[in-house]
Amino acid sequence: MNSGQLPGLYIHIPFCRSKCRYCDFYSVASLSALPAWLEAVRAEMGLYRDRFREFDSLYLGGGTPTVLGERELAGLLECARESFVFRPGSEMTMEANPDGLSADKLKTVRDLGINRLSLGVQSLDDAVLQYLGRTHNAKQALDALEAARAAGFANIGVDLIYGMEPLSLGTWNQTMDRILAFGPEHISCYQMTLAKGTALWKMKEAGRVRPIGEKMESAFFIRTSRHLERHGYLHYEVSNFAAGREFLCRHNRKYWSHVPYLGLGPSAHSFQAASRWWNVRSVDKYCRLLAEGKAPVESSEILSQEQLALEKLSLGLRTSEGADLDAPEASSKKGGVLAELQRAGLVRIRDGKIQPTRKGLLVADSLPLMICD
Ligand code: SF4
Repeated sequence: MNSGQLPGLYIHIPFCRSKCRYCDFYSVASLSALPAWLEAVRAEMGLYRDRFREFDSLYLGGGTPTVLGERELAGLLECARESFVFRPGSEMTMEANPDGLSADKLKTVRDLGINRLSLGVQSLDDAVLQYLGRTHNAKQALDALEAARAAGFANIGVDLIYGMEPLSLGTWNQTMDRILAFGPEHISCYQMTLAKGTALWKMKEAGRVRPIGEKMESAFFIRTSRHLERHGYLHYEVSNFAAGREFLCRHNRKYWSHVPYLGLGPSAHSFQAASRWWNVRSVDKYCRLLAEGKAPVESSEILSQEQLALEKLSLGLRTSEGADLDAPEASSKKGGVLAELQRAGLVRIRDGKIQPTRKGLLVADSLPLMICD
């Protein structure tokens, strides 16, 4: 499964039962606007029927998509299928949290055509889960994984977070091993960032929480990459691992390779040709604008050829596949700088690509600057 050449459809379901302490995604901890949001997102689909015809991936993200009841989810998917064409074999992902995920709910989700589940496990240590402000515990997470398998999901992704004070390297190893024992098809391991405005960021400002520092961040990253690769997973993007090429996340790969995507819902981003636009970050404003027949777009930009090329290079260097060696930004410097980066063990040149090594992925954000400066 590759990134596919057809666009991907993302739907942002901006509701959570409570707000996790580290989260800076747009979501509200109340379900009161859910009926109005559902109507609004259906209206938004209508705005794009002509501009986007066919997709080969759908991603229901959030927020917490599983706050949707059976009728609501069925209605949303029905409207999406009426508005657009999904090519047979499309990857259909739904994010889910372990709590409130009953066997019945999972079966319903599967029966509605969702064929990939992305479960927000985050940790298998209860103290860490509490620190993160998650509403589930480790047992619920493991039970949810088993229940998802029993419901027929053959493509399960697990999201984990590392790199915060209460998590030692030893505990992180145990978490990885317990997840590996389950054998998910995909694992995402995100480095904790204390994003401005979050509860943890406020605690940091008050001196109650400390970042772990660059040295420990590197230690977590390298250990994670080595450990998961040793168990047969492909480290194919900075934070992402797949149990085989057929389990690379087709939808997310579109974001990294400039394949068009349409994002619906508050705060969702879209990209087509050289154009990028993003929606308002307020569910009330989103619903109001659509009720008035207006597009809920906050802002947009047209990228120049130069910006597109630079972005392509930056995105490519975050993936093991790499960036084109003959990209103009890279080729102007390729003699000296690339040789230096190779000597430093940060990249290798293979099949006409500049590919980051494990060490290179660790500093993926800086690589384009090193190459283009
Ligand atoms: S991390 Fe997920 S579940 Fe937690 S508040 Fe953010 S979107 Fe909601």
